[in-house]
Amino acid sequence: MDFALTEEQTAIFDMAYAFAQEQIAPFARQWEAEGTIPKDLWPKVGELGFGGLYVSEESGGSGLTRLDATLVFEALSMACPSVAAFLSIHNMCAKMLDSFASDELKSRIMPDVLSLNTVLSYCLTEPGSGSDAAALKTRAERTNDGYTLNGTKAFISGGGYSDAYVCMVRTGADGPKGISTVYVEDGTPGLSFGALEQKMGWKSQPTAQVQFDDCKIPAENLVGTEGDGFKYAMMGLDGGRLNIASCSLGAAQAGLDMTLRYMSERKAFGQTIDQFQALQFRLADMEIELQAARTFLRQAAWKLDQGAPDATKFCAMAKKFVTETGSKVVDQCLQLHGGYGYLADYGIEKLVRDLRVHQILEGTNEIMRVIVARQLLAHR
Ligand SMILES: Cc1cc2nc3c(=O)[nH]c(=O)nc-3n(C[C@H](O)[C@H](O)[C@H](O)COP(=O)(O)OP(=O)(O)OC[C@H]3O[C@@H](n4cnc5c(N)ncnc54)[C@H](O)[C@@H]3O)c2cc1C
Repeated sequence: MDFALTEEQTAIFDMAYAFAQEQIAPFARQWEAEGTIPKDLWPKVGELGFGGLYVSEESGGSGLTRLDATLVFEALSMACPSVAAFLSIHNMCAKMLDSFASDELKSRIMPDVLSLNTVLSYCLTEPGSGSDAAALKTRAERTNDGYTLNGTKAFISGGGYSDAYVCMVRTGADGPKGISTVYVEDGTPGLSFGALEQKMGWKSQPTAQVQFDDCKIPAENLVGTEGDGFKYAMMGLDGGRLNIASCSLGAAQAGLDMTLRYMSERKAFGQTIDQFQALQFRLADMEIELQAARTFLRQAAWKLDQGAPDATKFCAMAKKFVTETGSKVVDQCLQLHGGYGYLADYGIEKLVRDLRVHQILEGTNEIMRVIVARQLLAHR
């Protein structure tokens, strides 16, 4: 058993970290205020090979393992978890397309997906179905030329911003087996977007409803096989959960680093506040919790890479544990900054706001417990 990162993994982390510190961190607050990430960032991210992190090298991707990818998201989120998490969604979609789309569709779209000239959104949730995603109602009726879509997707990260939408739609009967995955390009007639949602965090990402109103797509935009779409959507989520957890981990680590610096300068009662043992113990607890979270996350990623039978359970456990640990740590960091932690200039309150949603999406942390409990009780 070897817990050390390889030289290559260290290089991947360092490359992502250096890029993010230069190209993302200085602008994160401005992008948050503007409510958008400049589109010209993405091709630069694509040049690093981050547009298809675990798309195979034969398909033009970077061919990284899931464990490698967690390092990328951990490093990027040290600059801004909102930007990092947005890239995670694109990568989840890119992997689904690479794994299941026809060769014809792939040859048309994948070069731009991998270079991030095409930014992707993942459309599963609907106004009436979130955790119970298989209850989705958006319909895709088969026509002579393809499909006609009607319905609404809710909470879509990149809604109205992305260049294409990977959508789970109903082509058959109720339940998961009636769901298919389709690829809908921006500009398709009948595709429109709701107003931008006003959110607590992740403010640099535009979030909106995606609406289909007799939206016609060609037959070749079906991804994989009709009726298998829910399976594809869930397969994407194991890795997505690791990435979201990595975003919590990296941001919380950045928060702890900032807090250590702050505490070495801030004085109270004639000494720097890092001299109070009560506060030192809190720092120690945060370090212990983050190291435990990192080890657990990397084990879950390794399980997914190995194709271990309990990988889904481990991804769910890690997502729950690491996202809750991350939020707890940044909340403590805010407290240790005193009143300054509450001010935007110090960068901590943004982390508290950005990380909160990680407990809600890619499956809520209650649903993570459902997955774990189901496995625990399966042999009864
Ligand atoms: C900022 C943001 C961005 C998002 N981006 C996307 C995106 O890009 N694409 C996309 O498809 N979706 C996206 N989502 C949607 C997200 O995945 C859903 O909000 C999430 O799955 C929960 O669904 P819901 O909001 O309908 O809550 P509900 O499913 O209504 O849940 C309400 C509460 O009940 C609990 N609950 C539900 N069922 C159970 C159960 N069986 N046992 C115990 N507790 C349960 C939940 O955990 C939660 O606490 C985004 C959401 C947000 C907030």
